[in-house]
Amino acid sequence: MPDLSQRHTFGIASRCRVLHEFCSVQQLLDLYPRETPCYIMGEGSNTIFTEDYDGQVLVNKIAGVEVCHEPGGVSLRVGAGENWHTLVAYTVEQGWGGLENLALIPGSVGAAPIQNIGAYGLEAGERIREVEVVDVATGRQFSLTQSECRFGYRDSIFKRAEAQSWVVTYVHFWLAEDIAPVTAYAELAALDNPTPVDIFNKVIDVRQQKLPDPAVLGNAGSFFKNPTITTTQYNELKKTHPAIPGFVVSDQQVKVPAAWFIDRAGFKGQCKDGVCCYHRQPLVLVNQHHATGQALLAMARAIQHKVVQLFSVTLSPEVRLLGKQGRVEL
Ligand SMILES: Cc1cc2nc3c(=O)[nH]c(=O)nc-3n(C[C@H](O)[C@H](O)[C@H](O)COP(=O)(O)OP(=O)(O)OC[C@H]3O[C@@H](n4cnc5c(N)ncnc54)[C@H](O)[C@@H]3O)c2cc1C
Repeated sequence: MPDLSQRHTFGIASRCRVLHEFCSVQQLLDLYPRETPCYIMGEGSNTIFTEDYDGQVLVNKIAGVEVCHEPGGVSLRVGAGENWHTLVAYTVEQGWGGLENLALIPGSVGAAPIQNIGAYGLEAGERIREVEVVDVATGRQFSLTQSECRFGYRDSIFKRAEAQSWVVTYVHFWLAEDIAPVTAYAELAALDNPTPVDIFNKVIDVRQQKLPDPAVLGNAGSFFKNPTITTTQYNELKKTHPAIPGFVVSDQQVKVPAAWFIDRAGFKGQCKDGVCCYHRQPLVLVNQHHATGQALLAMARAIQHKVVQLFSVTLSPEVRLLGKQGRVEL
């Protein structure tokens, strides 16, 4: 049984029945689905195998970057199996701005539109022009425009039931010459008239200080999504917790950092059975010492339970949790 521990960045010891890498759409269609259940993945930085997976894992390795200079900017068509950070570094090296805020996010290019990765004021969906997809159930190949992708906060059409058998094969980006630098975040606002290189370097610097490197300490980035609550609930919480941070989403909704709830619930720096709530960023759970899936689920459920108890807010996982037969809910 193939070993999965090096295939997901949290690193829980786990295996699957069969594993194949595919480098082309045809290879993918030939392989799918020899076994069920079947899981499509990139670099496993948003996936946690909590135990042995009794199915087939297909790893996207479709490569290639095609560049086209057009009036007003550069368009790129990138194979879904390319590494995300390598792509960002390449564009910055070429002098093309637009992706620099998303430096050092682990994972593959093909996974970027799935949860519409975002950091430091930018989401990948803002730069994506088109996504090429194959429906492995029918073999049909088609493209979605940016608006058809229905990008939202850590969300897209690719998370909906209708897209269950779609695999992203290529992602197209549009990097306009006149893109304004995105510097609203405090750490970036301090930069004076920054170039894409300046922002790229600063983002790397800040991320390296705050986040554990998965190559050193197993983790899957933010474990929970930042919850959006009603303005009424937010104002109620503010009465008892005047320092509660919040970002207005609409007239009726406010987004609150999940890290704030987790910290207030007393989990920051806590460890149990090899799983820790990271001391510098409580939104990240880490595999401190040979963690098992059970220990991870127990810690995540304890956090979820306590936050509901204290604040009546339900935290939803950002990561994909997989058990023996597929998705595991908290
Ligand atoms: C240290 C660390 C920091 C992180 N920081 C951020 C951050 O700042 N912002 C952020 O948004 N995320 C962040 N993440 C999460 C993660 O990097 C992203 O979600 C990334 O896009 C996952 O890529 P992957 O290839 O590893 O995906 P995987 O974990 O392999 O897959 C993730 C999901 O996408 C699906 N999928 C993957 N490839 C395809 C495909 N080609 N077609 C269809 N479905 C596919 C999988 O089935 C799965 O559901 C971080 C993770 C870590 C470990």
